[in-house]
Order: sequence, then structure tokens, then C-alpha cells
Amino acid sequence: MAHGSGRTYLAIPGPSVVPDRVLNAMHRASPNIYEGEILDITFGVVADLKRVAMTSQYVAIYIANGHGAWEAAISNMFSRGDRALVAATGRFGHGWAEAVERMGVEVEMIDFGKSAPADPNRIAEALAADKAKQIRAVLVTHVDTASSARSDIAAIRAAIDATGHPALLAVDAIATIGCDEMRMDEWGIDVLVGACQKGLMLPPGLGFVWFSDRALEVSQHAGLATPYWDWRPRGQAQEFYQLFGGTAPTAHLFGLRESLTMILEEEGLPQVWGRHETLAHAVWAAFDAWGRGSDGIGLNISAPNDRGRSVTAARIGSGGAGALRKWLEVEAGVTLGIGLGMAMPTDPAYADFLRVAHMGHVNAHMLLGALATMEAGMQALEIPHGFGAMEAAAAAVAEQTRRR
Ligand SMILES: *Cc1c(COP(=O)(O)O)cnc(C)c1O
Repeated sequence: MAHGSGRTYLAIPGPSVVPDRVLNAMHRASPNIYEGEILDITFGVVADLKRVAMTSQYVAIYIANGHGAWEAAISNMFSRGDRALVAATGRFGHGWAEAVERMGVEVEMIDFGKSAPADPNRIAEALAADKAKQIRAVLVTHVDTASSARSDIAAIRAAIDATGHPALLAVDAIATIGCDEMRMDEWGIDVLVGACQKGLMLPPGLGFVWFSDRALEVSQHAGLATPYWDWRPRGQAQEFYQLFGGTAPTAHLFGLRESLTMILEEEGLPQVWGRHETLAHAVWAAFDAWGRGSDGIGLNISAPNDRGRSVTAARIGSGGAGALRKWLEVEAGVTLGIGLGMAMPTDPAYADFLRVAHMGHVNAHMLLGALATMEAGMQALEIPHGFGAMEAAAAAVAEQTRRR
């Protein structure tokens, strides 16, 4: 008999857990979109979105998922025949590059593999080799949600600056905004891409593109921009209708108002980052302990500093990851993420990988619960593993919370 009844935990890296408060805030009749409360709420949301990205520049909101926001960013930076330098650190950089290519922009790819962050020096070398300065922008994924590799954006900016190349720096922060430290202005990011269904704790439906004054200047000549995706009216709107290029996503705006209040006013952005840091340490500690009894279990990224704080990719060999994911869903009400991009779904190795999401509305009891049920599943499925994972995960939470 299955034991999964009870409150479930969707621990896939997006969509993430939506707080009941956010769902309740969205559960409202549609407002008049020509005057009244929704206008004030929305301009407040725009201001707070800039606070979440730590920028005083511009943000455009789109009714779209992350792929839509990718495309928005591309269309405002490039013209047909331009070049883009893309750093891939797992799966998502390749996805963004495919969109760039299909839109008629030439892609120069630096593939850092599936278990390492982007190396700023190699990006600098590629820019230095571009004597004709044809590369319009460098595209980097902050945390690749497939590999959980985290790249050092400030270091990449410094490396670009050292070459004197004028390329824009565009960053996919879909897996990190509202989870891990992100300082758009301080780190010198020109274009930052986000979506609402991860750290911002909403159902999917909104994509965000923050952009700098320099990016705005470049976009004046970007030939790929079409009326809907043009970020200029959205980012500089004086009138409400300019923000969405059509009807506003009213329910999502009510929800986003609630989640931004939770992040910025109630918990506080540094505390949100700290909570994700703590939870990440607990996951890493558990995997380290499990891996000490089995050479088949291990984290995908070896250096802690190179690991994402909102998602962890790991391996449990001999099909253990796939079996464990199934067991958890049926017996414990926990849904873990599939191993994305590590092996083809037709390859038996596909079942060796999984991801634990710890992004957004997650606290220690949810995550320690997920880890403890993973341990129970390993016992039930007789997956060889080391002992002491629960003590190690608990100690990681204790240690991180003691420090504050
Ligand atoms: C989720 C995610 C995407 C894709 O977002 P969709 O909403 O699924 O289109 C892109 N990049 C990163 C880093 C992500 O985590």
C-alpha cells in the first residue's frame, strides 16, 4: 500500500512550491485594468522587481515563461547577422544558444561541460580574439538548473572589462533570482533574465528582463525587436497599458505583490539568500555522507563555491536515482527532479541522475523531511549508501543558523 498521502513537496526545480498566501492573493475577481488599485499595485511591483535584482535601471515584464524571456532578451540585443558568445555550463546555456541561432544570430559557443562553472579567462580569450568586435553580447547562465553549476558573474564582468571589448553581459538568473545572491548593478550585468515560477514562488506565467542603460542604448539599433518583445515601452512605461503590450496578467500581479512582500518586507533579501545557503549545505552534507558508503552516489559539482544554492544535481548509480524518485513520489509525497541533460532518456544511465530543488518557499522541515524520506527510500530499495546523512544534514542546518 502506498504511503504518499499528506501534504506533498514538489522538489523539482520549477515550478516551485507556491505559498498558500500567494494562491489566496491570486484568487480574486478580475479588476478594472483602466483605473484603480491594480495600477498602483503594478507600479509598486515594478519597483520591487528592481529591488530583488538589486538594480536601479529598467525591468520589462512579459506574459511568458523563461523561454519567452530568453527570446525577449535576444530580440532587444541583436540584429540578424550579429554574433553572440555563449558560455554553456549544463543544459540551459545550450537552450538559450539554440534560440539565438534560430533567430539569425551567429553563435560562438564555449562549452564548459556538465559539471563546471564558466571560466572567465576563456571568455576573455574569446573576446580578445574578436578583433572586429562583432560579438554583441556574452550570454551566461548564473546557475544552470540541469548541472547546478554556478558561475561567478562579477569575475566574468571583470574579465570582459579587462579586454576592453564592448560586448554586453547577459545573464540567465531564472534559477537564482529570489534564491541566491544577485547584484545586477554592482556586478555590472547589462541584461538579466528571470521568470516567476522559481524563487519568486508563483505559478508559471511571467518572464522578466532587467536591462541597463547601456543595453537600452544597444537596443535602439537591435533589428530583431518586434512590437510585443520590444523592452523599451515596457521598461520606461509612463502609462499602465505600456507595461504589458495588451491586457495585464491581473491574477499574477496580485500574486507577485504578495510574494515580493514576503521576500523584501517580511523575510528580507539577505535572509532569503541565507536560508537557501543553509538548505543547500544540508543537501550537500547528506549526499557526502551517503557517498561515503558507495562509489555510485555523489554530487555533480565538486567545489562548494561552484554549486547553485537553489538546486542540487546528483548521481545515484545503477538506476538508483530513477528508482528512488519513483519510490519518493508514491511512498512519501515528495517529487524530485529528473536528471536533465546528463544522459538521453533512452540511455539506461538516464536513471542514474536526479535533482533536488530547494528554491523558493522551502524551509528546513520541508528539506530535512525530503532528505529523510530519501534515506528511507534507499533502505527500502536496498541502495548501498553511507550512514550518518541525517546527522550531517541536521548539523549543517544547526551550524548555519548558529552563525547568524
Ligand atoms: C527554468 C529555467 C529556464 C527555462 O524556464 P521556462 O520557464 O521553463 O521556459 C531557463 N533557464 C534556467 C536557468 C532555468 O532554471
